[in-house]
Amino acid sequence: MRTAVRSRLGVVAAVVLALAVSACGGADEPGPFGSGTPHGLDVPGTASAENPNGAGSQGGSGAPAPGDAAAAAARWGLEPLRAAPPAPAVKPVKADPAAPPVVKRIPTDQKIVFVTIDDGAEKDPKFVEMMRDLKVPFTMFLNDTYVRQDPGYFRKLQELGNSVQNHTLDHPNMVKLGPDAQKREICGNSDRIEAEYGTRPYLFRPPFGNYNSTTVQAAGGCGVGAIILWREAMQIGDMQYVDADKTLKPGDVILAHFRGPSDLKGKTMTQMMANLLRKIQAQGFAVARLEDYV
Ligand SMILES: [Zn+2]
Repeated sequence: MRTAVRSRLGVVAAVVLALAVSACGGADEPGPFGSGTPHGLDVPGTASAENPNGAGSQGGSGAPAPGDAAAAAARWGLEPLRAAPPAPAVKPVKADPAAPPVVKRIPTDQKIVFVTIDDGAEKDPKFVEMMRDLKVPFTMFLNDTYVRQDPGYFRKLQELGNSVQNHTLDHPNMVKLGPDAQKREICGNSDRIEAEYGTRPYLFRPPFGNYNSTTVQAAGGCGVGAIILWREAMQIGDMQYVDADKTLKPGDVILAHFRGPSDLKGKTMTQMMANLLRKIQAQGFAVARLEDYV
């Protein structure tokens, strides 16, 4: 399965633009996904992913949520999510700094998705409370611009078991930068995150989803083993879906942002997250930990 997500440096430069603009721009802007998946980096090999029954996970690993999980969910006005299956013994995507794969979807036939949260502008204490309560795993792709405003905020989220990964120092459009500047943005942010949080990022997400072969090379040189893009982008009440049928598919990576009322038309970060979790729950998916799969 690994071959399906292998890095294809040759085509990278040609395909970067399709993802431009949406990530980290306005909260509710029209997405770039109208015409579907722009290129072949999107793990097409998961034919069984289309199995609408999730390969039997309905009955098997989908154990009923314990009472406390149900109670925690209820406190936030939610139904409990289906329990995530155990982490796989072998990660389906191999991180490799020598040739970082570009990943938007993890090869799996289980009904799991991965939540990623970017930038770090909003630092809502209620969100920490919510995640402590719900124990939903997520991966943070942060800019130093926002981290340095309050590193302790993200440490609280890290202490819940969520990792801090790399999204550049200052959120530039990488394809407009030369090799040295790209390297500075990636290595510089990894240095900062390692100093602040004790672990060097091995995952990188380019701002706006824009990257070229120089980006991939620079990321690898900074110790990054995989470049993580996304399939769905959470807005305020719903997601922009890649697929015309507007449904999640097994293994999808979902993009969200640390955003507050000024970017969410008055809604809070916890309201946005509750909306996201409702959509995931309603489609019968569990949220798994990305680091268990890459
Ligand atoms: Zn961003």
